[in-house]
Amino acid sequence: MTSNSEKPLHPLDPVSFTDESKAVIDFIADYYKNIEKYPVQSKVETGYLTAKLPDSAPYCPDSLEDILEDVKESILPGLTHWQSPSFFAYYQASSSTAGFLGEMLCSGFNVVGFNWISSPAATELESIVLDWMGKMLKLPSSFLFSGTGGGVIHGTTCEAVVCTLAAARDKALRELGGNWENITKLVVYASDQTHFTFRKAAKLVGIPPSNFRLIQTSFATEFSMSPEPLRLAIEDDIESGLVPFYICATIGTTACGAVDPIAELGKAANKYKLWLHIDAAHAGSACICPEFRHFLDGVELANSVSMNPHKWFLTNMDCCCLWVKEPRYLVDSLSSNPEYLENNASKSKAVVDYKDWQVALSRRFRALKLWIVIRRHGVANLMHHIRSDISLAKQFEALVAKDDRFEIVVPRKLVLIFFRLKPKHELDSGELNCKLLDAINSSGRAFMTHGVVGGIYAIRCVIGATLTEERHLKDLWNLIQEKARFLLLQYNE
Ligand SMILES: *Cc1c(COP(=O)(O)O)cnc(C)c1O
Repeated sequence: MTSNSEKPLHPLDPVSFTDESKAVIDFIADYYKNIEKYPVQSKVETGYLTAKLPDSAPYCPDSLEDILEDVKESILPGLTHWQSPSFFAYYQASSSTAGFLGEMLCSGFNVVGFNWISSPAATELESIVLDWMGKMLKLPSSFLFSGTGGGVIHGTTCEAVVCTLAAARDKALRELGGNWENITKLVVYASDQTHFTFRKAAKLVGIPPSNFRLIQTSFATEFSMSPEPLRLAIEDDIESGLVPFYICATIGTTACGAVDPIAELGKAANKYKLWLHIDAAHAGSACICPEFRHFLDGVELANSVSMNPHKWFLTNMDCCCLWVKEPRYLVDSLSSNPEYLENNASKSKAVVDYKDWQVALSRRFRALKLWIVIRRHGVANLMHHIRSDISLAKQFEALVAKDDRFEIVVPRKLVLIFFRLKPKHELDSGELNCKLLDAINSSGRAFMTHGVVGGIYAIRCVIGATLTEERHLKDLWNLIQEKARFLLLQYNE
């Protein structure tokens, strides 16, 4: 007990819960209102926060006012403002009121739905929402619970890839007679544009780095993976006594937005009995629109598909949907049934126990968030949301394309514009564009990142932060031109 008569803070007192939560919501609303005042990319120096905060925890409680004041003074300057309308870097983390409300409910209930009995609604809503989402994407019924498959919400694509790789690995090892030593024979395939997460995941599930094949891509296919070199690589490996077992195809690669030809890769995967995973982390959201659904053509040949609603689907972090055709492979690989979790529902096999579809035991009730996003907007508005971002992207692309000092390096597929400033001497290109990007980002008025494909350094502009409007793109284009003019004077003299 403390010596003074003050009562210790009740951790969940209903009155202060309401007051303090409202104060935080007001704080966030204020943040959104003022977000354009902050430099988009944080300007702090490394270690800045250590200098600002005490080096040990307070012994007595701090007030919420003091804490929020410190958030304002010490935390905000160290934020890169992903929700800024001038954030065009990496991939957008599109958020929404609906997504935020879902997060609040999830956090408020704070249930841990690892199996059905531990919170039936958490499991059942997740299965229902995954079927909704799967139908919006026109996935074949073989991926839906209403058909023969099913889906799960993970935190990230990395987890989805690890879990499907583990399932495919165990399936392959069983087919080889169940001897774990055969793991050294298993080979995985992807393109040289595939997200680094795939290499990490393969390593995590024990695939030797020497059995990791990257199919080279080039300008000729706009950096999508060609089936022919894939077939050759697979046949080479079979000839050497290795066992090809998994291929990761991507819809919307990270550097330049390339789309792998799913149908053709699927035919090769099926011929050689490889597990085909489709990583549509960012671009998957667009496939709810009929005009972009063709990216998923051939999905019926895949074993698993994943996409991140937390990127472009107005769903606050974190939310990754994974669908599998044969859930039993995930369960065979990832299930654990300790005595303390025994219950009749699980024994009956009539329920989904999501702990057997993921790495961890504990899990958040993320389905609430996606459910509320879909219900509050409706499919019609979600399609509108995608289309209006695409339309902004087209406008920006047109600005770049009609200025002959610039060049679109790889044609735009959706909302990623991959472009560069053309120097007089090609050798200067990397340095020139790196300097241009630095000048733009350090102005604080916008934030973009870069990519290198086919040896060419270019700037990535990803459109689709929730608050971005046409005027922000005009500002961005003015900013780019202003900085470019200055640099070209130096380089082209
Ligand atoms: C963003 C992205 C990833 C990584 O997603 P996480 O959810 O952060 O693991 C992987 N692949 C692609 C194509 C992506 O766009």
